[in-house]
Amino acid sequence: MTASLQETHEKVIQEREKYRQLFDCVQDYGIILLDASGYIETWNTGARKITGYATDEVIGKHFSLFYMPTAIDAGKPDKDLLRATQQDRIETEDWQVNKDGSRFWATMTLTSLMDKSGSLIGFAKIIKDMTERKMNEDALRTANKRLTQQYVELESLNTVKDEFISLASHQLRTPATGIKQFLGMLLEGYTDQLTGTQRRYIQKAYDSNERQIDLVNSLLRTAQVDAGKVILTKSPVDMGRLVDSVVGELQDVFTRRTQTVIVQSNSHIVSVQADEARLRMVLENLIDNASKYTDSGGHITITLSATKKYVKICVSDTGIGISPADSKHIFDKFNQIPNDLSGNRGGSGLGLYWVKKIIDLHQGTIHVSSQPGKGSVFTVSIPKNV
Ligand code: ADP
Repeated sequence: MTASLQETHEKVIQEREKYRQLFDCVQDYGIILLDASGYIETWNTGARKITGYATDEVIGKHFSLFYMPTAIDAGKPDKDLLRATQQDRIETEDWQVNKDGSRFWATMTLTSLMDKSGSLIGFAKIIKDMTERKMNEDALRTANKRLTQQYVELESLNTVKDEFISLASHQLRTPATGIKQFLGMLLEGYTDQLTGTQRRYIQKAYDSNERQIDLVNSLLRTAQVDAGKVILTKSPVDMGRLVDSVVGELQDVFTRRTQTVIVQSNSHIVSVQADEARLRMVLENLIDNASKYTDSGGHITITLSATKKYVKICVSDTGIGISPADSKHIFDKFNQIPNDLSGNRGGSGLGLYWVKKIIDLHQGTIHVSSQPGKGSVFTVSIPKNV
């Protein structure tokens, strides 16, 4: 051998050694070289670690050694070789079998190897153990399925509950309204025939009955909005006029509680596309609350303003206020904050929930800012022309 031939030969051996080391140092991936019929010629440390076999236990064995018995029965190893030959390279994911018979989930690439003339000389199979990911995915899928099932069950229970509330409220409203009529007749028509005590008792019964009707109406309204049955009937609404009308309607309440009410409007005519009847109830709720949760002698201010696109209504009071923790849940269903005034002024905890739903339907927003002992401000913003 000449000196230069000797040099080339050593270089080739060196290069080959480098490739061997590169091939072997891959630990996370198993690399298996097969002959053209699928028999194992060599593999790397990664493949040994993944499958648990020693090298001399697999060399010369058919690569179907790692397939599940069902896959072998279905002829999958040969089908994979054929597909890899036809498509150059295939990627699969499947269970494979370890030496100890346990299975592992593998992602696999099978590439056909050709010589320069294009004849098949073997295959390279690269595998990665993805059992942990598969387990996590399966657990997630199962949990997801269970959650979906529970959600469907809850949804149907919720519908049953809404229907029950709606039906019960309807049934309760008729007799309650009957009672109101008769108590009203007694109070108005028989005043001179009633003793003071009788009149006081009937008045108490009348007031309780009114609260009962309010509660039934709130339940019905809530069931309706929860069932998605509220369809807004929009028309141009003059906000200034609407606020004045609601304040006028509640004047007796303010007078009884010796509260002063101021309406401020910094823009002339503020008109908005809205469902007038429902917007009136929103304002009634907010202004009534402002009065209800403010001591006698307090002040309530309603401010109207407008930007190019929005109308803003602020209802502020000098009342008992709401703590930051309670403010977070103020629009939740049945949320009532125990305080000195809530006990004797009635309520259901449904008003603000319903109000927010109606504002949402108008694509508007509602916020509260409040300081316990100082008062609260409820700010409603609704787009003028949606
Ligand atoms: P309720 O029928 O009990 O008044 P709402 O949904 O209207 O129900 O209000 C929920 C709770 O929020 C009330 O119980 C009350 O404690 C609190 N709240 C509402 N408005 C005010 C306000 N202006 N000032 C202080 N607390 C308020």
